[in-house]
Amino acid sequence: MVKYKEKLEEQKVFIDGEWTTASKGDTYSIINPSTGKTFVKCQKCDAEDAKKAIDAARDAFDNGPWPEMSIEEKTKIFYKVSAMIEEDTWEICQLDASCNGVPVSHHNSTVMNMSPNFEYACEQAKELAKPDTTEKEYAMGMETMVVREPDGVVTIITPWNVPFWQMALKLPSALISGNTVVFKPASQAPLSGLEVAKMFEKAGLPKGALNVITGPGPVVGAEMAKSDKVDHIAFTGETVTGKEIVRNAAGNLKKVTLELGGKSPNIIFDDLSTDEAAEMATLGVALANGEECFAGTRVLVQETIYEEVCKKTAEIYGSLKVGNAISAETTVGPLVTEEQMNKVLGYIESGKEEGATLLCGGNRLQEGELKDGFFVAPTVFSDVSNDMKIAREEIFGPVISMIPFSTEEEAIEIANDTIYGLAGGVMTNDREKGIRVARKIKAGNIFLNEWHVLACDMPFGGYKQSGWGRMVGNKGVEEFMQIKSIYPDWEGIGSSIMKNLLLSGGDTE
Ligand code: NAP
Repeated sequence: MVKYKEKLEEQKVFIDGEWTTASKGDTYSIINPSTGKTFVKCQKCDAEDAKKAIDAARDAFDNGPWPEMSIEEKTKIFYKVSAMIEEDTWEICQLDASCNGVPVSHHNSTVMNMSPNFEYACEQAKELAKPDTTEKEYAMGMETMVVREPDGVVTIITPWNVPFWQMALKLPSALISGNTVVFKPASQAPLSGLEVAKMFEKAGLPKGALNVITGPGPVVGAEMAKSDKVDHIAFTGETVTGKEIVRNAAGNLKKVTLELGGKSPNIIFDDLSTDEAAEMATLGVALANGEECFAGTRVLVQETIYEEVCKKTAEIYGSLKVGNAISAETTVGPLVTEEQMNKVLGYIESGKEEGATLLCGGNRLQEGELKDGFFVAPTVFSDVSNDMKIAREEIFGPVISMIPFSTEEEAIEIANDTIYGLAGGVMTNDREKGIRVARKIKAGNIFLNEWHVLACDMPFGGYKQSGWGRMVGNKGVEEFMQIKSIYPDWEGIGSSIMKNLLLSGGDTE
């Protein structure tokens, strides 16, 4: 495990069981967004390196021991990795925080949240390894069998916002089911992914079963989507990139699973006190500096309490501790890059231009230790209407847009007026209303009087342009498997039902 230091040594990539450099010798630097200084250099792989990693995974799937190993042998390796993660959780969080600016304590919560999937996926895979031999009503009395088999070579591409969480959502399920994997974490935050590869190596994973490479998405990631040697691509990132993945994957019609953007509504009813309402409005965007796919960035507040809740939300959100992501006291860190900071500031300008009222924040912060980092003050807009850019587009920063509504029906209509469908929230003490509204929101994950609670035994994914398929949950491992139906007729060839039906003039007597 690499121990956290202000500046780390150059990182390598893991291809076919070897730690190696990009074939052309190119590297790139990751700037720590809290300090504006270079944190680490990583390998800038290209399409040829991606091909090498895919070839290694292909060979490991077609000829290697991993797919054929018993589920008991596989789970032994996974349990060792799980123990190593538990031991090194804080180091993993420090590495990710220094790459992407998300507070170290937030990383800690996401590692705790998704690391159980290394063991949970094992339990699922054990069940799926057993053929389903239950009698089938319409199978003409045959002793049928339904078996699950790995897809083959799986490529996984993830974004920078919560890197360990993104990896743990897919990698354990993909690997434990017997697939071999090429994983490309985001260029800005690849360290936890590289560390997990070291853990698997130490735990005895056969070579080629897991390959981890770094490099630009449009080059390395595009090859991982295009290659005919790949059977399944599992992608998380922006919706626009997801569409590019689908186009590139069409060549061999590989399986595609997608987890994409969001613009989630957080509906707050007036049976909450204004203090509770403001806390829940803030909680919805509190994780990861608002750079979170399922952040509740559109806060819909019932008009009877709207003014007061807006004021109090600005007080709470505006007073959160902004600081270096590596400090345990920080609740809002810097944005991931200077480019992302400028993009978020651009959205704030558009909010002002379109007539929203800025209640707090709205500016870059550069005082004291924040001087060289990419900090944006926590920002709250009121008087937002759902057709403004700040209510329609994913900002991916610490910005809350507060929208008033009068009735339950109107709230649902506004909530669903978006191209996305990743998450939503309902804040009310009325249980019946809570469930009723939750069922009406067209999104894959709904929080009732909560936010950011995700469990590896609950399915995760989106409706509409937020994605295809589901990760984790009861079908998490199955997403990475093919289903095969076997029809044996052990009564003997002469007694074949279909032979008698089709070749003997329909006489089945
Ligand atoms: P992104 O630009 O789409 O990048 C995501 C990943 O795709 C990165 O590894 C990137 O590589 C790679 N990539 C870029 N262009 C590619 C291409 N043409 N072909 C293949 N791969 C390519 O997204 P991001 O800015 O990192 O992350 C923010 C987005 O992710 C937001 O939209 C957010 O909502 C979404 N997200 C969704 C979920 C979810 O579960 N639904 C979770 C978290 C984030 P580089 O790093 O080298 O550019």
